[in-house]
This record gives sequence, structure tokens and C-alpha cells, in this order.
Amino acid sequence: MATYEYRCPRDGIFPARFPIGRAPAGIRCVTCAAEAVRVFSAPSLRAMPRPLVAALDRAGRSAEAPEVVTRVPGRRGVARPVHPGHARLPRP
Ligand SMILES: [Zn+2]
Repeated sequence: MATYEYRCPRDGIFPARFPIGRAPAGIRCVTCAAEAVRVFSAPSLRAMPRPLVAALDRAGRSAEAPEVVTRVPGRRGVARPVHPGHARLPRP
């Protein structure tokens, strides 16, 4: 299910949920039952946390042009968080 937006000439924009790709071009307004047309708008990215948006952007860029690294990330100079349970794992 996805949320789509429709515009009623009297009541303005309101959301409606339909399966992805099956939203009709027009529906009845939930308030006045007049014909409301579907409007296209940007996805609700503002509600996503900024670090998540940055991670998604980086993943998208990486899919097209992977970053080249010259060393294993996190080996030198950067302390990685260590879970206490890692000490109990079997060693090779
Ligand atoms: Zn209406």
C-alpha cells in the first residue's frame, strides 16, 4: 500500500491509500463526495532522519559508481564500537 494525494476543488488535498500502481486518476472526496483528481507530489522525505537520507543517497551513488578504497576501512585511527559478546565468539 502507498499513500497518494487527491485534490478536491472545495476541500483541498487529502491522502488516500491504494496498492502501489493501482491508484485511480480520480476518487470521491472523503468530505463532500465531489470528484477529486490525483495530484503528483514529492515523496515524504522530510519525515526521514537526516542520517538515513544521507545513507540512502550514498547507497544509490555507490550502486552506480562504487567508491574506491585503498585500505580496509576502520583498521587505523578509527575506533570501532565493540560488542562485549564478540569476545566470546570462537576464534579461527
Ligand atoms: Zn471535498
